[in-house]
Amino acid sequence: MDCIFCKILEGEIPSKKVYEDDFVLGFYDIEPQAPVHIVLIPKVHIESPEDINSENSLYAARIFEAAAKIAKQLELKKGYRLCANCKQEGGQTVNHLHVHMLAGRNLSWPPG
Ligand code: AMP
Ligand code: ZN
Repeated sequence: MDCIFCKILEGEIPSKKVYEDDFVLGFYDIEPQAPVHIVLIPKVHIESPEDINSENSLYAARIFEAAAKIAKQLELKKGYRLCANCKQEGGQTVNHLHVHMLAGRNLSWPPG
């Protein structure tokens, strides 16, 4: 399967890891949109948020748990944003479920 994030999981593509457990890998985004921009991915290939179901939703839960741990670890005391883009109009460019964690500046709302 030609999936960049699966290749990162396999170690075929390097990444700057910030967090890892049995379910989740967190690494710094290659094109950061904020002073802190981390991508959190499940350690199995789930295509998009639309593919979360009762069999695999533990991965989604663990991603949010990981984000809370990272926020403490990096002392993101002023806050941060978690967002998951879904399919074309949602702005998803990599078809492996991921949650962006953005911090370090005022994030405007609504997003573009
Ligand atoms: P999305 O547009 O929501 O699908 O997000 C995909 C994200 O993955 C983008 O922010 C990209 O900059 C990021 N990205 C793509 N390739 C890599 C890579 N090799 N290492 C780190 N981040 C990547
Ligand atoms: Zn994948």
